[in-house]
Parts: sequence; structure tokens; C-alpha cells
Amino acid sequence: MKYRAALSVTKRADRIAIVGGGPVGVELAGEISFAFPGKDVTLFHSGPSLLSKTGLKEGVSSALAQQLAARGVTLVLGETVDTDALDAVARDERKAEGAEALPDEVVTGPVMVSTQQGTAWEADVVFRCTGATVNHSCYSVGWLADATGDDGRLRVTGTLQVEGKKDVYAIGDCGAAGELHTMYTAQQQGRYVAEVLAKQAMKPQVEVKPYERHPKFMLVPLGPKGGAGQLPTGQVATGAVVSLGKGKDLYYSDVKKMMRVKR
Ligand SMILES: Cc1cc2nc3c(=O)[nH]c(=O)nc-3n(C[C@H](O)[C@H](O)[C@H](O)COP(=O)(O)OP(=O)(O)OC[C@H]3O[C@@H](n4cnc5c(N)ncnc54)[C@H](O)[C@@H]3O)c2cc1C
Repeated sequence: MKYRAALSVTKRADRIAIVGGGPVGVELAGEISFAFPGKDVTLFHSGPSLLSKTGLKEGVSSALAQQLAARGVTLVLGETVDTDALDAVARDERKAEGAEALPDEVVTGPVMVSTQQGTAWEADVVFRCTGATVNHSCYSVGWLADATGDDGRLRVTGTLQVEGKKDVYAIGDCGAAGELHTMYTAQQQGRYVAEVLAKQAMKPQVEVKPYERHPKFMLVPLGPKGGAGQLPTGQVATGAVVSLGKGKDLYYSDVKKMMRVKR
């Protein structure tokens, strides 16, 4: 329901602000500019270039910036949005009687989006895409508190065991293995730990090879057509590789197959 509500406010809005130029903000700008080409979309990002925190090649970021600009999306780079002001508007909105049930990341306007550097732009709807936080409530205040970093992730050894806890492994988003936090790396780490456990079940004293970090891999589509990404070979990909790899259905059919969902 919340996401349907977000879609309906997007349809009604003429001016759309997206805060955060990481993979989620860039993809959202791509989806909106593809589906609603007449909308005025502005993407704010504190870093000097799109996806600046991912460490992907510059060619990925510049290809995305060029394609978004060609669709009329305005990029405001190197400027930090005052999110406290947006939080205050969001709080009032949630309290208001009859307000639509929207995801927490969505703020409806008209609302002024201001940056610390002095840019101000009025939007009808704002999407905050400033990074996912890990749900660490089940370990950070209890038995794994000592191994929890400031970012809420568990520090791990070279074999993905939680620091100081030989019998506990941390894989996926909750672990700080030094890789991008993606479904792809979560799967690789899961496979590794499954193999280790299977070997140890057969031979408890078996020597275990450290986990080998995988090359960076990420596809960032801009709707069903367009986008860019970096392949595990290090090559920058655009066009059909990105569309067929992810843009066509955002991995929906792959995940359905993996989770054995029939519908
Ligand atoms: C908007 C968005 C888009 C993304 N797009 C991509 C993409 O295109 N490609 C890609 O590779 N990655 C993508 N990612 C990242 C990817 O989704 C994550 O890296 C991946 O889901 C991590 O898997 P995980 O199992 O570690 O965590 P999750 O998938 O978050 O699973 C954690 C599970 O633990 C459960 N849980 C939490 N606390 C408890 C508890 N106390 N007890 C029991 N269960 C609990 C949660 O309910 C949840 O089901 C995206 C992420 C976001 C937010």
C-alpha cells in the first residue's frame, strides 16, 4: 500500500527531488525520468560524482550522469541537503490527520530542499535515498555488542567469523567484510560459509582457506532501457548488458526463482 501511495504522489507531482546519488537514488531518477519524461527531476548528491562512495570506475558514474542529463534530470553534485528540515516536514506530515501512508523515505510538498552550499529548490515530492541502515537491534546491545562497529555491522575475521566468536559467522549486510553490500556478495559469502561448515562437519580440524573477496559487480539501470554498471571483469557496461541483466525487471524473476515462489 505504501509503495502504491508513493507512486500516486509521484504521478501527481511536477517537481521531484531525489536526495542521494548512490545506486538507489540514481536508479530512482532513472525510473522516474523513463516513466514520466515530462517531470522536472533534480538529484542532489553530496559527493563529487554519482556513486562516489561505491568505488566503481569513473566511466560508470559519467555514463549515468550523461544519460540522466540527456533526459533532462538536473544533477546537483557536491552539495549536502539539510535533511533535518526534511525530517521535520516528514514528522508533521505523519502526524497530520488523513495523511497518506507513505514510506518513511518520501516527503510530500511543496517543500523547499536546501543545501548547506546555498542551493534551494522547491519540490512537490522528495525521495530520501541516503543509504540503508542495518537492523542491528538483535545483536548490538547484547552478546555481540563488542564486535559491532559504529555503522552497526559486525567486524569479521578473514574467515567471516565474528571477531572474538569462533562459532558465529556474519554474512551479507550485517557483516563488515570490506565488500560492497549487495545481494551478489551476500550470496558469495553465504556459499563460502556453507562450504566451510560442510567441510568442518566431515572433519572438525580441517584447515579453512580465508574468504576471497570478489571483484566489484554492480548494474545500475535507468528504467527498462539505459543505465551503466561494472562487470566482475572490471569492464564498464552500458546498453543491453544492463537492460537485460537488471533493467528489464529489477531481478524480480531471478529472485522469484531463487526463493521458489510460484506466483
Ligand atoms: C533499494 C535497494 C535496492 C537494492 N538493489 C540491489 C541490486 O540491484 N543488486 C544487489 O545485488 N543488491 C541490491 N541491494 C542490496 C541487497 O538488497 C542487500 O545487500 C541484500 O538483501 C543483503 O542480504 P541480507 O540477507 O544480508 O539482508 P536482508 O536481505 O536485509 O535480509 C535480512 C533479513 O533478516 C531479517 N531479520 C532482521 N532482524 C531479525 C531478527 N531479530 N530475527 C530474525 N530475522 C531478522 C529481516 O527481516 C530480513 O528478512 C539493494 C538494496 C536496497 C535497499
